[in-house]
Amino acid sequence: MSISENVQQVRQNMKQAYEKTDQKKQVQLIGVTKSVSSEVAAELLAAGITALGENRPEGLTDKQTVLGREACEWHFIGTLQTRKVRQVIDRIDVLHSLDRLHLAEEINKRAKQPVDCFVQVNVSGEESKQGIDPEDVHSFLHEVGQYPMVRVIGLMTMAPLTEDEQVLRSVFRSLRVLRDEVATRQLPHAPCTELSMGMSSDYQIAIEEGATYVRIGTTLVQS
Ligand SMILES: *Cc1c(COP(=O)(O)O)cnc(C)c1O
Repeated sequence: MSISENVQQVRQNMKQAYEKTDQKKQVQLIGVTKSVSSEVAAELLAAGITALGENRPEGLTDKQTVLGREACEWHFIGTLQTRKVRQVIDRIDVLHSLDRLHLAEEINKRAKQPVDCFVQVNVSGEESKQGIDPEDVHSFLHEVGQYPMVRVIGLMTMAPLTEDEQVLRSVFRSLRVLRDEVATRQLPHAPCTELSMGMSSDYQIAIEEGATYVRIGTTLVQS
């Protein structure tokens, strides 16, 4: 299938999953281009994708040099090293991987305007996964309040690598419950209305469980 056929197929699957929910908010599709060229990224934009995701500063810079900063929304989805904040922070619209206070502090120091961030949560508790423990999210958000350049728009997680649908659902559901708890508190610096969850292998399940952003690479770019 061509890239534009992939995009159509994914949008159709997203719609089907969305229709099973009672959610009013539309789900945003982020095309993850970390493993493809700028040419393929350009094809995604031509096929109607309006947000691209990269997980390394170099990938982000390379794509932007070719496509232009204004070509789309730019989402940073990988672990961001503190020393790379300066390089990327004015080049991105959304950060999906806020996972430590020191990173918030550095963003606060370097950003020229408030940055929309997702707090990354390690719901599954796997040692290999980045993210804050679910039980530490409330205190973390409290601390982040001291950094006016950081605006927490939601929570993000990566599901474990499993095909066990019940495990996936329970991870996504836990993140949603946590998001709802935070949103109820109506923190001025953390409206926390969004949920970034779901990738190629599990995005339909994530949407059924309330995702408002899905990050999809492989399925969109395969030929
Ligand atoms: C690579 C990546 C994705 C996309 O994964 P696919 O399986 O290719 O869809 C989503 N989120 C993050 C954080 C990633 O690193």
